[in-house]
Amino acid sequence: MTRQDPPPPTLGCRDTPVIKERGQHEVFCGLTGIIWLHRKMQDAFFLVVGSRTCAHLLQSAAGVMIFAEPRFGTAILEETDLAGLADAQVELEREVERLLSRRPDIRQLFLVGSCPSEVIKLDLSKAAQRLSAKHAPHVRVLNYSGSGIETTFTEGEDACLAAMVEALPHTNARQLIVVGALPDVVEDQALGLLDALGIENVRVLPARRRDDTLAVGPNTVFALTQPFLGGTAAALERRGARHIPATFPFGEEGTTAWLRAVSKEFGVEAQLFDAVTDAPRDRARRAVAQAAETLRDKSVFFFPDSQLEIPLARFLTRECGMTALEVGAPYIHKGLVGPDLDLLPEGPRLAEGQDVDKQLDRCMAGRPDLTVCGLGLANPLEAEGFATKWAIELVFSPVHFYEQAGDLAGLFSRPLRRRELLRLEAAE
Ligand code: SF4
Repeated sequence: MTRQDPPPPTLGCRDTPVIKERGQHEVFCGLTGIIWLHRKMQDAFFLVVGSRTCAHLLQSAAGVMIFAEPRFGTAILEETDLAGLADAQVELEREVERLLSRRPDIRQLFLVGSCPSEVIKLDLSKAAQRLSAKHAPHVRVLNYSGSGIETTFTEGEDACLAAMVEALPHTNARQLIVVGALPDVVEDQALGLLDALGIENVRVLPARRRDDTLAVGPNTVFALTQPFLGGTAAALERRGARHIPATFPFGEEGTTAWLRAVSKEFGVEAQLFDAVTDAPRDRARRAVAQAAETLRDKSVFFFPDSQLEIPLARFLTRECGMTALEVGAPYIHKGLVGPDLDLLPEGPRLAEGQDVDKQLDRCMAGRPDLTVCGLGLANPLEAEGFATKWAIELVFSPVHFYEQAGDLAGLFSRPLRRRELLRLEAAE
């Protein structure tokens, strides 16, 4: 059975003029990525070099782990460090020595910069190089910035993976790297599909455990699973690898187009492609259709937050029958989200960056049925009678590839159903 793909829209959004905004923004910083990265990389430790505020953010977002040895922590910069009265480099290295001698299970250590460490210009790359040389080969020490100055929360993963790419050895092997931290169960599904398509030598970044055999070079191609990995993509390209442009694997259509782009690169026959994808496509379509009953003909407004906004708007409009009023994203990198923009039917306003008051005004005027936004905006909007979805949940939940397509639609339909129930209760 050969499936008919829905035709692309007559006019997509690739050339839609973009409103560029530079004003107050309401986002979490890149430290947030540690929450999902430390779960993914099971032998890694993330040491934030920051303030008590950074420590509180991590503890409250991740919960306090009582029984397990934590795999993240904060080396707190005290007043004396900030005032330049103490040698923060020396203290940091002493802290790392203490940690590594106590925790032989750590094989990768990330020194994560923060606003305070950047303000005092603490050179974490030098510290990482020195510590790496000292603790090789057992521990590899890398550094990246999770600072909240002019960033958004998904940039933490991007900076972390880009730092990993810089440290990879060279290879001339023909290989595919799937890039982006996916929950293990989702990663297994993706690898299973690629294997069934006959694509060999598939690697993932980041791997669950430190993978000293992962290398990069001119015969490497890579496919991104998250649209916020622009820095990682650039780092891979600097190392000679080539990006496979594709829609992101959200929903049935996005997943199929992602797999098709990879399959084209590896010369997979159409017949094999259909044989491998027909059944999961069918399951995904049925699961989405069920969840989308609540979403059909409803409107959605995206505040810029996770950088997933454009692929998700494509999914909600094309597969769930919604209308997008505005799609705001912190950055619009057409090299990455171009294929999603091509499929997003013309109509919504596109906005890059944030000026929260202006966006709130536009949201109020449009009265969308559903608003996707950061945590800080959700409560005030709910109080005004808007149904909201926290953008951050979309990064924490398994939402990629076929088997999660129905759950992805369900994440958006749930707030609408809850609001409807509340309305009915109030009317009784
Ligand atoms: S890195 Fe900056 S924005 Fe993030 S918690 Fe620390 S001080 Fe706050």
